[in-house]
Amino acid sequence: MTVDISKTKTEVGNYFVSNYPPFSQWKPEYIPDAIEALDEPPRIADPLGLYLHIPFCRKRCKFCYYKVYTDKNASEIEIYLDALIKENEIYSRTRAFQGRELRFAYFGGGTPSYISEKQLQYLIEGLNRHVSWENAEEVTFECEPGTLRKSKLEMLKQIGITRLSLGVEHFNDSILEANGRAHLSPEIYRAYEWAREVDFPQINIDLIAGMMGESDDLWRDTVRRAIELEPDSVTIYQMELPYNTIISREMIEKGLSSPIADWPTKRRWVDYAFAEFQERGYRVASAYTIATRKKPCRFIYTDALWHGGDMIGLGVSSFSHFGGVHFQNAHSFEEYLALLDEGRLPLCRALSLTSKQKLIREMVLQLKTGSIDTAYFNRKFGVDVWKEFQPVYERLNEEDLLTRNNGTIELTRSGLLQVDHFLPEFFEPESNPIRYA
Ligand code: SF4
Repeated sequence: MTVDISKTKTEVGNYFVSNYPPFSQWKPEYIPDAIEALDEPPRIADPLGLYLHIPFCRKRCKFCYYKVYTDKNASEIEIYLDALIKENEIYSRTRAFQGRELRFAYFGGGTPSYISEKQLQYLIEGLNRHVSWENAEEVTFECEPGTLRKSKLEMLKQIGITRLSLGVEHFNDSILEANGRAHLSPEIYRAYEWAREVDFPQINIDLIAGMMGESDDLWRDTVRRAIELEPDSVTIYQMELPYNTIISREMIEKGLSSPIADWPTKRRWVDYAFAEFQERGYRVASAYTIATRKKPCRFIYTDALWHGGDMIGLGVSSFSHFGGVHFQNAHSFEEYLALLDEGRLPLCRALSLTSKQKLIREMVLQLKTGSIDTAYFNRKFGVDVWKEFQPVYERLNEEDLLTRNNGTIELTRSGLLQVDHFLPEFFEPESNPIRYA
């Protein structure tokens, strides 16, 4: 079934494609497949990554759909950190982990920077006893500006963080407040200055196009202020309204119309930001990312994942992909802790991918970079992707969303800006049109 991309209003529902097959197809009965993948001989040459989920925030943003807690005290946080260390230790003992080194690590959330320096030190020492990222090429740490101090940033640099990602989202205080963000613009500037002084190899800032209250003028001002900071990369998401956000719940309960700009307007805003940054020498690295050309700016985390690399996700509700199997941790804090207490991996559902599913997954994720190399898919899967998905590619080509060139399929700017809306057209019938949960 074709997804209707002419639908313009931002209604309640998920569009962002983060994985394939959709989570609704992952089942508890497939968990043994994950355990089996971890018992395979180690594939030493394959990239391995670690994701650590820190699910704590100062305040819940009105657009947030992540598993986050704003009410945990210091001792509950410390119990959670012990659980992460234990989970890491269990993985380190599996057969498939022996002799493998981390190529990347990613601290996400939630708000990783919410935890104190002492807690951070404790966590790092505990993790390093079993799996080290000493030789990792990229270690990312997500931060909320209002949780930072210079000494915390110095510690992050010291423990090997190479990529600091600052959740700015917007520079206008009224917009930040209206959308429930915990920080205001003075905290952004203070944190950014410290981060530059501490001299991280790469500083990324996150922005969101289409927060409640957004206008052409305010967005232009936010882009201008982002450019002034000269970040190494900028990630821009178009605001959407998954079912479990505060905004969506209020819309449903009170029968309100969407307070978020429509999709064409959000695309226009992202297009504007891309163009402004490009004019200053940045390159568009994906549907959501722009990067400086002044120094090498790679995204090893997404690059490895989007090429089928292994990644273990530690923490409540975290996702993993290992040896061609997807798996996810328990959704509730209590269940996650209880399973680890019993010395078991805290898994709640899994899915072993068929070869066709692996192909679709990599193809749709790589399309988000704006271009795919067809020879790569021929080599890896023995498939000519254009032929395999000809009706979809031809339709997208007719609509000027992509072009076929010599050995590549390239998205036009218009295609790149709405890539998540048409990717489900490549899905198998049983996965389409399932919205992402
Ligand atoms: S800071 Fe991020 S994770 Fe925390 S509530 Fe806001 S959007 Fe959600």
